Order: sequence, then C-alpha cells, then structure tokens
Amino acid sequence: TPSDESLVDLLRDAARRFGPRVALDFFGATTTYADLDDQVGRAAEALRRLGVGRGDRVALVLPNCPQHVVAFYAALRLGAVVVEHNPLYTAGELTHQLADHGARVAVVWDKIAPLVRDTTDATAVETVVAVDLTRALPRRKRLALRLPLARARATRAAMTGPAPGALSWERLVAAAGPLAADHPAPGPDDTALLQYTGGTTGTPKGAILTHRNLRTNAAQGRAWVPGLRDGEETVYAVLPLFHAYGLTLCLTFSVSIGATLVLFPRFDLEQTLEAVRRRPPTFLPAVPPIYEKLALAARERGVDLSSARYAISGAMALPPATVELWESVTGGLLVEGYGMTETSPVALGNPVSPARRPGTVGVPFPSTDIRIVDPEDPSRDREPGEAGELLIRGPQVFTGYWNRPAETAAVLLPDGWLRTGDIVVTDADGFVSVVDRIKELIITGGFNVYPSEVEDALRQVPGVHDAAAVGLPGEHGGEEVVAAVVLDDGSDLDEASIRAACRRHLTGYKVPRRVVVVEDLPRSQIGKVLRREVRDRLLADR
Ligand code: ATP
Ligand code: MG
Repeated sequence: TPSDESLVDLLRDAARRFGPRVALDFFGATTTYADLDDQVGRAAEALRRLGVGRGDRVALVLPNCPQHVVAFYAALRLGAVVVEHNPLYTAGELTHQLADHGARVAVVWDKIAPLVRDTTDATAVETVVAVDLTRALPRRKRLALRLPLARARATRAAMTGPAPGALSWERLVAAAGPLAADHPAPGPDDTALLQYTGGTTGTPKGAILTHRNLRTNAAQGRAWVPGLRDGEETVYAVLPLFHAYGLTLCLTFSVSIGATLVLFPRFDLEQTLEAVRRRPPTFLPAVPPIYEKLALAARERGVDLSSARYAISGAMALPPATVELWESVTGGLLVEGYGMTETSPVALGNPVSPARRPGTVGVPFPSTDIRIVDPEDPSRDREPGEAGELLIRGPQVFTGYWNRPAETAAVLLPDGWLRTGDIVVTDADGFVSVVDRIKELIITGGFNVYPSEVEDALRQVPGVHDAAAVGLPGEHGGEEVVAAVVLDDGSDLDEASIRAACRRHLTGYKVPRRVVVVEDLPRSQIGKVLRREVRDRLLADR
C-alpha cells in the first residue's frame, strides 16, 4: 500500500514514471526527474562519506533551491533525519536548534556558513557544507538572484565573508560516485524529519515525523485535489521549504504527483510574475497575504493567472474577501485547509470544488478523526455546535517532540488523540471553523475574549489595514484588551474613532481599552502575526 512506501520510494517512482520530465525549475535552470534521482544518489554517497548514517540528524539551513531538494532526499536515502532551519535565523536561534537536535553535519547556504561555523562550540556540528546558490543558475540569471538575497542579507548582520572551514557541496557531490544500490533504504516507520514548529506561541519544538506520516499526508492531499493530473502539473514553491507547510505541500507532494516544482528562494512578487510568463503555475500552495499581493498585481498589470486551477491556503485564517479576489482574477479555486507541524501537516480541508465553504477549514481528511472537547477536561466532548478544543487522530499525527517528553505527554493523549490547542466550532454540515488558539485567549473581568474576533472587527473599520489584539495586565488585576493597528496609507483615524467603530461589532467588554497605531505587525517566518511579540512591544512602550 502507498503508506508502506518511504519518501525515497516516491522519488524513485517519479524518476521511473516521469524520468525526462522537469522536476525542478530554478529561474529557468531545469533538473529532470532522472537527473534529480542521479544527483540524489551522488549526494547520498557524499554524505555517507562524511559519516552520515541511519538515524543521524542532518541540518539543512538553506533557502529554496535545487541543492536543497537534492540534500533533502540524499539524507533521507541514507535513513538519516532531515532537520530544516530558516537561513535567516540569528546565530542565537540557530545555535539553540542545532544544539537541540545534535546534527554533526550541516548543509548550509554559503553566505551563512561562517555563522554556522561559529555555533560549533555550542553544538555537535563537526562538518559544515556550503552550498553556492548561483551554481544552480544559468549565468545570465545570477544577477536576478542577487537582488532579493541581498535584501535578505541586509536584515541580518554577520552573514558575509568567505566560509573558512566549510566544505563545498558542489565539489563533494561532483567527486562522489553513486551510492551503492544495495545500501539500506529507510522503512516507513523510520523518522524522516525533525520539523520545528512555527514558533508562533513560543520556542519552536522539534516534531518527529516518520516517512509514513509524510507519505500518507501526500496521498491524502492527492485525494483532496482530485483534479490534479500525474505528470502534468506545475507547482510553485513560494513558501519556504524549511517550514512544514512549504516542505510538504510544495516539495513532497509535488514529487508524489510527478509535477514540475518552480523554486523561489523566498516570495518575491516580481520574480513570481516573471515565472508566471515563463512557466505558468497550475497548483499554488501559499498563505493569504501572498494571494492578495499576486492577485492585485496580476489584475493591475494584466498578467494571466488563469493557469492556476487550484490554490491551497493554510497556516492562518483565509479571509473570504481574499477568496473572492483570487477567484475573480484567476478563475481558479482558492480553498482553505487546516493543519499543524504535528499533523505532517494537513488534517482538514474544504472540498476542492464549488461545495467549499469560505470562512471554514472544511472537513477531516480521509482516515482522519476529530473530536471537539472541553479544553479543561479533554475526555468530555462538546455538544454539537458548541466551541471547544480540536482533537485529531490519524495516520499523519506525529510521534512526539524531540527530547521533550513532558510537552509530548501534554498533547498526545494515550489513545492517539492529538490536542491541537485550537478552539474550533462545527456547523450543521460538519464544516469546521477555527476560533482561536487557547494560549492566546484574553480573560478580562471574568469574560473570555478571542483576539481573532476583536481583530476581525477592527479590520472592518474603514481605514484600518490590519490589527492584532492581546491581553495586557489591567488596573484591577486580570487582563484588558489592547489592540495594535496598522492603518491604510493616508488614513488619519484616531484611537477614539476606531474604538467607537468597534462598538458596532463588539459587546462592551470585547472593545479594546486602548488602540495603538503601529507601522507594522511582527510576523513569523511564514507570515503569521506574532501576538506575543505585539504584547511585549506594547508592554515595553507603556
Ligand atoms: P508553535 O506551535 O511553535 O507556537 P505554530 O503553531 O504556529 O507555532 P505550525 O505548526 O506551523 O506552528 O502552525 C499550526 C497552527 O497554525 C495551528 O495550531 C493553528 O493555530 C494555525 N492554523 C493552521 N491552519 C489554520 C487555518 N486555516 N486557519 C487558522 N489557523 C490555522
Ligand atoms: Mg503549534
């Protein structure tokens, strides 16, 4: 059965079925499935010579690029465990994660190789292998790449200079022969990935995901979007492969259907529009702000996005207005799903058909069960239609957090149910809506306030572009609702009028006591608003 295959088997199948087809497109430089399979074999041999074996963690600290994909499958081929990292992490963030999982080999973007070298005193890293992104590019495109990365670089100090003590990935792979065909391959229950959670509510935790978890989720995704055709789709990776959502919905899913994956080092509007002219997307997983930017730009400049039949949004709430905009510009479907790193990552999704229900995250995936329970006592189910904590059970649920038995026990119940920490509510037809995270609930004067509800009300105020609501210590103990808002360009709204406008949508105790106008909202690596950081900033400014 498909779920007995590893991710490595999926790549091998794709190479057999779609050998000459383009697997990867990086600024127009292409790699076929046959080439990819060959490069993975050589890269696996190169990693084996560095001492990588079954169960060893291999750290990847790379933007989206062909070498990222090759290194990912090469490590998996050896039965090793891939650990993905944001290449724009600070030295502190990176050191923390590298020390946590104890990888001895790190394959990293050459621009940050010195930074990774500097962590080796505090981590188990012995070998740093530096990847030169420009090597994957046609010469005339090298300039194109420099732009967004230079911008990225400007945001982080300490990222330049040569990489003393680092090995060259390209040289290692070129020097290695193919891995012996009988070298043991991973089985379905081996760990494939140690994937850190998004870090939205606290320090990221490493979720242990097996080949079966990830393989099953790719098959569930395939069943979710029945209109996809094997060997004929073009998938855009505008999301980072170092995040659970991008890694699976873009990479492992794309390989499972023999699609062409167009890789972008990071989301960049101009590069995306240029790629649309060259190799139009048919399947586009992303997050709401990306759909908005792309749709507006395409409409304004007359770029044809009608190839994009399917767009899958996740990770954060998808506003129905974004669905309307995207679908009117492209003529395709934009459908919302729900998941978390701990569910490999997708667990629920709207039907990919006109039956989808904007504003909801749809229904459980095949072979996935859900319950909605009392967060104080998860053995007690809620009445139908009542809000409660979402529990998930299914073959995509992870096996635990790396080195964190207490946190694992807190979310994985003995009978296989996963506590999501999210409050949801179900409508009469079983469509689930996400209300908010339990951790971010505000308790004011004995009442519970969901920040999302306050934020939705704020966003409806003409002149308000975006908002975040948090609880700050109040005068009489407890918390009070405080909001940070970003105004539309040219808007001169003041606090009093924003609060007055909120009163039309919210009961008194939910109306923010204070509204602070800010330039922008802090966001996570995939674009979620970081309420805990908003809270810290507001506290510091008091
Ligand atoms: P951390 O667990 O480290 O705080 P995180 O929970 O943001 O970070 P992820 O695993 O990337 O890390 O995100 C999963 C969470 O994202 C879910 O628990 C849920 O709160 C939120 N989420 C996912 N999909 C949706 C959606 N469609 N609508 C609203 N929220 C969503
Ligand atoms: Mg989480």
